[in-house]
Amino acid sequence: ASPATNGGEDCCVKVAVHIRPLIADERAQGCKDCVTVVSGKPQVRTILLPHNVYESERAKFRDLDLSGCLLVMKEEYSYALLLTKRAEIYEIEFIVKDSHVQIGTHSFTFDHVYGSSGTPSSAMFEDCIAPLVDGLFQGYNATVLAYGQTGSGKTYTMGTGFKDGFQMGIIPQVMNVLFRKIETLKHQTEFQLHVSFIEILKEEVRDLLDPATLNKSDTANGHAEVSVCTFKEMAICLEQGSLCRATGSTNMNNQSSRSHAIFTITLEQMRKLNPVFPGDSNPNDSMNEEYLCAKLHLVDLAGSERAKRTGSDGMRFKEGVHINKGLLALGNVISALGDEKKRKEGVHVPYRDSKLTRLLQDSLGGNSRTVMIACISPADINAEETLNTLKDPMSSE
Ligand code: ADP
Ligand code: MG
Repeated sequence: ASPATNGGEDCCVKVAVHIRPLIADERAQGCKDCVTVVSGKPQVRTILLPHNVYESERAKFRDLDLSGCLLVMKEEYSYALLLTKRAEIYEIEFIVKDSHVQIGTHSFTFDHVYGSSGTPSSAMFEDCIAPLVDGLFQGYNATVLAYGQTGSGKTYTMGTGFKDGFQMGIIPQVMNVLFRKIETLKHQTEFQLHVSFIEILKEEVRDLLDPATLNKSDTANGHAEVSVCTFKEMAICLEQGSLCRATGSTNMNNQSSRSHAIFTITLEQMRKLNPVFPGDSNPNDSMNEEYLCAKLHLVDLAGSERAKRTGSDGMRFKEGVHINKGLLALGNVISALGDEKKRKEGVHVPYRDSKLTRLLQDSLGGNSRTVMIACISPADINAEETLNTLKDPMSSE
């Protein structure tokens, strides 16, 4: 079940959708924008052009300025009515062979939706991420997960890449807020910060801050935790790790789309409490101090796309699907946490099924907060995967 559709107010998992703009590559291919945000509502509407219809037919539709698409389903065939902005109606008839291909208009509701135009992505930071940084100072752990198919903007959104848009990503913005807040509180509180940056590929953990070690141990603390004092020091960790992720593998595109990158900030604070009676305080008295420790995991997940169908045999397709163990386990954990009924019944949450979920265990569920950002491309060629991402943000079925 998708947490997006049953997300009650007290649900510990919030889902936001982030739609990136069409990129130059997609424009060059003649792609059309097939995703619209319904203004005033956290809702996304996708207009899917018939995907498995002949390529020559599709080429025609690309030149149309579409304002809508209606689907008429009959028993053995369907046809779509495409509405252009000039109120022309085109009718296309086609046979539905592949039942998994969906055509038509779909609406999905989420906690938040951020479009490529209109709402700037700083709004996403203010709504979804800044409260998690505030929570850190109150001792609450949190996790931010960027989910979506390869090319949908996960790395760009998180800021775990080394290329364009690096500084605008969520992690650099978190660092800004974090250090600003520390600056205002440091007269009464002692802070200690640690970061770690790791990559999980095929259930193996690689330390991006110490790439020489391929750590095979199961413990979360088996990799380097670097102590940092300044924004600059933390930025160096982020940059070095990002660079290491981008260049560390021979088959770069493939690897980074199949691996999870986790940037973790640990904040420790020793707060000096005001004595009840002024003059009563003893500087050596630990009763007058409060210790808090909290973690924020910022995760750039592996691409959620399924393997492309190679043969026509449905069974073979099922077997051939590349299932990422971490994504599958995370989906199960999130749906267990998102299901209020299950949570109340104390149903087992399967954290131990993958490295990813084991590493995130202390920051998923319980008192911690989770924000999932479903990243999508607006291009019509990606419509099918976009639909999968929107339909059930964590399903790996
Ligand atoms: P993913 O990590 O999901 O595979 P990327 O973050 O690498 O995707 O993004 C794919 C491409 O789209 C990159 O060229 C990136 O620069 C571009 N892109 C992603 N998000 C945006 C955005 N919000 N604005 C502009 N370009 C973007
Ligand atoms: Mg990426």
